Amino acid sequence: MRLDVISIFPEYLAALDISLIGKARRDGLIDLVVHDLRDFTHDRHRTVDDTPYGGGAGMVMKPQPWAEALGYVDRLAPGPTRLIVPTPSGRPFTQTFARELVHEPHLVFACGRYEGIDERVYDYAATDLGWNVTPVSLGDYVLNGGEVAVLAMVEAIGRLIPGVVGNAESLVEESHEGGLLEYPVYTKPAHWEIDGVAREVPPILLSGNHSAIAKWRHQQRLERTAARRPDLLHTSQFMAADAIDITP
Ligand code: SAM
Repeated sequence: MRLDVISIFPEYLAALDISLIGKARRDGLIDLVVHDLRDFTHDRHRTVDDTPYGGGAGMVMKPQPWAEALGYVDRLAPGPTRLIVPTPSGRPFTQTFARELVHEPHLVFACGRYEGIDERVYDYAATDLGWNVTPVSLGDYVLNGGEVAVLAMVEAIGRLIPGVVGNAESLVEESHEGGLLEYPVYTKPAHWEIDGVAREVPPILLSGNHSAIAKWRHQQRLERTAARRPDLLHTSQFMAADAIDITP
């Protein structure tokens, strides 16, 4: 999978050099290139923004550097491309969406700053470059720039690429896979004391009875989802089968 990220703060994306995504890059599972938008400016100050037409606060990112950067990426990696535009006014980013995006051969992420990018850039990408342009929101809040959103999206998408997470089974029962949140997890020691208070691992997990453990975990997933995210349970396929009472 090829990923290109365009930003005025390429150093922000340095976190993609470490941990599982960094290893996946070194192993050749992810081909990720970060570009500095200012490399596509032509003035002494490497200007990427200007005042908004129509007035109002803040600055808007100029179209020309963006068009040059996108055109450069298109020449580097021609072929079907989806442009992901992080914006609070985009489609909410979810696990289902990450699973959709992992099948794309080429994703380009355009990290906005200030009040965002001149709207005509998206028309250029769709019409002249023939890219599929998708505005995507990380959540209902406003960040200072698209970089943090891109870090989250690349990590969520990248870990779905076969081979990136060592044990593929660990992807199956996670929160947001199959509509429920994950069950609580524990490790050694079974008996743990701190500040004079003993805290035990639930005995069922020490029983060795795999079917009983699976049943307990499923029940925990239902209860946790009901308590923390009842909105998920309402649409969950497990709702009817388990007939759990989620009235507050
Ligand atoms: N004026 C814009 C608005 O109200 O929609 C917000 C601009 S924000 C200060 C600057 C940049 O941060 C955006 O262009 C976008 O790239 C990024 N950003 C902010 N919030 C985001 C979110 N919830 N999801 C994804 N990207 C976000």
